Amino acid sequence: MLDLRRHGFDQQHQQIYDMAWRYARERHHPLLRRMDDEDWFPADEYRRMGEVGLLGTTVPESLGGPGLDLVAQFFIGEAFTYWNNMLAASWGASENLCVNNLVRNASAEQQARFLPRMLAGIGALGLTEPGAGSDALGSMKTTARRDGDHYVLNGRKMFITNGPVADLLLVYAKTTPERGQHGISAFVVEKGTPGFSVAQSLKKMGWRGSPTGELLFDDCRVPAANLVGEVDKGVRVVMSGLDIERVFFSGHVIGLAQRALDLSLDYARTRVQFGQPIAAFQLVQGMLADMYAALESVRAFSYQLLKEVAAADDAGRGEIHKRSAACVLHAGNMLKQVLDHAVQIHGGSGFMWESEVNCLYRAGKLIEIGAGTTQVRQLIIAQELLKE
Ligand SMILES: Cc1cc2nc3c(=O)[nH]c(=O)nc-3n(C[C@H](O)[C@H](O)[C@H](O)COP(=O)(O)OP(=O)(O)OC[C@H]3O[C@@H](n4cnc5c(N)ncnc54)[C@H](O)[C@@H]3O)c2cc1C
Repeated sequence: MLDLRRHGFDQQHQQIYDMAWRYARERHHPLLRRMDDEDWFPADEYRRMGEVGLLGTTVPESLGGPGLDLVAQFFIGEAFTYWNNMLAASWGASENLCVNNLVRNASAEQQARFLPRMLAGIGALGLTEPGAGSDALGSMKTTARRDGDHYVLNGRKMFITNGPVADLLLVYAKTTPERGQHGISAFVVEKGTPGFSVAQSLKKMGWRGSPTGELLFDDCRVPAANLVGEVDKGVRVVMSGLDIERVFFSGHVIGLAQRALDLSLDYARTRVQFGQPIAAFQLVQGMLADMYAALESVRAFSYQLLKEVAAADDAGRGEIHKRSAACVLHAGNMLKQVLDHAVQIHGGSGFMWESEVNCLYRAGKLIEIGAGTTQVRQLIIAQELLKE
């Protein structure tokens, strides 16, 4: 198991990582096959995590939560992904994109109202739209019009992780459309709010069993008290959240890559060709060595960035914006190589749907797309570099 103290993290984070790793090995890994085959979301098993303090992880102790920090959340995500990347994806979207965002940005009154239920709840974040992906802010069409003590939301959100099953959603909409990205606000929308519905659940090549949906807001009346932060100031919430998300999901990359390497080592030791284990062949050894080097470079960069982001109060711009984009850009590039080698080492077995490396391979592609694509990350880095 991973020794976090070697990387400068403390005993408490080590204990949390170990606990999450053992929990996921016992409870999540056995669910992997069915989730992948049937696109099945184990809702009961998901909520059961709340019983051992693995939901609402960053909810403050004053509200009954475990009050963990971003570092702890990152390592739970890494451990979870190692054993079941699909359940980890849903967990990460809920815990980091939704819950942690509310912990950082919601008022005390809103936190008291919403966060306790996230100790056993599922959250989601709705930013992307059918016509607004990489240009999520500029092209956003969803509007929120003030009407008395409510806002009326109209529009569609696309590719929303947990959208079909979430209890609470953090949704972005334009309160002053003519102001472009400076007219965006964030709202908490509760499941069952009239006018809110799931337009479709989407069928994916990877992350199966983690529900992804298109959401519809049709004259959806949300109490004005659910507006998070200041009106028209949502861009700050989005941008800082995205930087944190990029580093957070680098932990998922480490989990995926470590699992792929471990499965490949096992396979190379046991698969016999030409009268010997394929691990004896230097060309196979070369792939294993390259996988390890790629993994460790992602680990070093991500752990460094994790410390920086956890300490930053200016995420969403400047140095941390550039570095978090660079971290996940590198992670995505390296993961591609690791997963490709893992399937190669498994030969024909790796091409089979039911092999675990095949599931990892299909999951890995999303790292180059979600939370800003590879090209968007390159744009962010280049723009920041050229400003200097
Ligand atoms: C499984 C899954 C889960 C997701 N979960 C969520 C979620 O929970 N919440 C949420 O809000 N969103 C979520 N997303 C959406 C995700 O963030 C977007 O898919 C992503 O930002 C890309 O947007 P797009 O798919 O519309 O692609 P597009 O923006 O249409 O991009 C298409 C291609 O054009 C390239 N491109 C676009 N603009 C430029 C440019 N200026 N320069 C160079 N190349 C460019 C892109 O890099 C890409 O290669 C999820 C997506 C998936 C697939």
